[in-house]
Amino acid sequence: MSTVAIHPSVDAGVSKGNQNFPGGTLRCQCKTDQVEVHVQGNVAHNHACGCTKCWKPGGAAFSVVGVVPRDKLEVTEHAGKLQLVDPNATIQRHACKECGTHMYGRIENRDHPFYGLDFIHVELSPESGWEEPRFAAFVSSIIEGGGARPDQMEDVRARLTELGLKPYDSLNPPLMDAIATHIAKRNGVLK
Ligand SMILES: [Zn+2]
Ligand SMILES: [Zn+2]
Repeated sequence: MSTVAIHPSVDAGVSKGNQNFPGGTLRCQCKTDQVEVHVQGNVAHNHACGCTKCWKPGGAAFSVVGVVPRDKLEVTEHAGKLQLVDPNATIQRHACKECGTHMYGRIENRDHPFYGLDFIHVELSPESGWEEPRFAAFVSSIIEGGGARPDQMEDVRARLTELGLKPYDSLNPPLMDAIATHIAKRNGVLK
């Protein structure tokens, strides 16, 4: 048993999503006047992420993050409480300035392989049925984020594997291939 908490939404086991899930509403963690973000349809490429930039709940070593088309996401309440975490980051994370919760991350660079997709944390929605996380990305980075010591990493990877979240130290092969394909097409290597 791993001594590192992966993420509250998977620590007791990963529950399967519903393929016909219609979407839901994400809310920040303020007690009142919550920022609300409505998402139409299901999340895709949902995964545990160990990078140091993604928002994580307290005590978790990983975030759980997935993507939705940007035109399916709409801020429906208290948009005025949102601010950019880092205007220079590739993924512009919009967070509630009161509670710090990241409501969505958006890529504004049209040349980026993932342009058109927004990054969300479905645990912020009370609805169940979102696609379950299916792999773990940037696992080694949890050392940088203080989520684990190097000597705990073997345990962490074993626990992720047990949960069905195959561990990778970058993104998983389908997403790495998608990035490389985008670049190869842009460079004319791939017609
Ligand atoms: Zn808030
Ligand atoms: Zn991340």
